[in-house]
Amino acid sequence: MSHSIAKITVLPGDYIGPEIMSAGLSVLKAVSEGEFDYQIDEQPFGGAGIDQKGDPLPQQTLESAKASDAVLLAAIGGPKWDNAPKRPERGLLAIRQDLNLFANIRPTAISQAMQKYSPIKQVAPVDFVIVRELTSGIYFGKPREIDDHHAIDTMCYTDEEIRRVAKVAFEMAEKRRQHVTLVDKANVLATSNLWRRIVEDVSADYPTITYDTKYVDATAMKIISAPEQFDVILTENMFGDILSDESAEITGSLGTIPSMSRGTTGPALYEPIHGSAPDIAGQGIANPLSMINSVALMMRHSFNRPDLADDIADSVDAVIESGIVTPDLGGGSTTDQVTSAIINKIRERR
Ligand code: ATP
Ligand code: MG
Repeated sequence: MSHSIAKITVLPGDYIGPEIMSAGLSVLKAVSEGEFDYQIDEQPFGGAGIDQKGDPLPQQTLESAKASDAVLLAAIGGPKWDNAPKRPERGLLAIRQDLNLFANIRPTAISQAMQKYSPIKQVAPVDFVIVRELTSGIYFGKPREIDDHHAIDTMCYTDEEIRRVAKVAFEMAEKRRQHVTLVDKANVLATSNLWRRIVEDVSADYPTITYDTKYVDATAMKIISAPEQFDVILTENMFGDILSDESAEITGSLGTIPSMSRGTTGPALYEPIHGSAPDIAGQGIANPLSMINSVALMMRHSFNRPDLADDIADSVDAVIESGIVTPDLGGGSTTDQVTSAIINKIRERR
């Protein structure tokens, strides 16, 4: 971090985006009181970028993000821009590229309080993260061709693309339970064999970390049957895409899950995994936990304040436990009621 006061670029986005962003920022303010100095630069992005500046990623928004220590994003897009010449989602692709965010990190946590919402039975709390390579692999490989009788997709990885995301996974494990599992299909794929070679090599630099490998098909089963065994799952783009949605599903609610995308240097970007939920926008009932958990993730990983992240996480758990939850979790509370309850818990802890 290059500034003494943390600089956070805030992109509230569209539909429920601004509603949950406002909740996240109130919690950030409460947890930071007397503990953490920051300043916020709020910028239009996505549909709001198109409306205000004619561009889903306006130049000024990008400049603010580049000069920041972290970027907080709510959710973008929706039916309002269905026929717009530029799609709001293009802003997301562009900012990922411009900030070189090649690693996407999705935590899957099922705390005691969240257990009753999970569709699976656990014996132990679940707490793992998937580190997914985001900018290469079969979604980007060439040649890509299709005619009436053939189609070709290409999965391609370079050693450097693997090495840089592997380092992200090992650094993440150092802050967690010291365990990295590389997930691949090394019995079939050449790319998986390169992943094994490079990640094995990277693992030598992290002697305290237990490193193992697992096939993706076996992993898909274990995420359901024994998810407590994972700490950090490292994997390529498509496997990560599929496994992260499977993992979201076992927590029981889209509305609680944060994510982080980062590169080697520069700011990381934190956002809920869900979309802008146009169907419930403006009703004050969006679940703010995905955004509040994104703020906690930011405190832990961009600002090295695990103490403040834990303050947020413990307060969130206490509020869920007390039954103050939004309708998506079967409750009757509003976005504001959930947020206020969390802020009260944070203050009680001080
Ligand atoms: P996208 O294409 O942007 O991912 P989507 O079509 O997958 O969007 P979401 O916006 O993620 O859809 O919403 C899926 C469903 O989950 C909707 O019914 C929405 O209302 C609900 N949902 C998403 N986020 C929340 C939230 N924070 N609180 C409550 N409900 C939510
Ligand atoms: Mg979606």
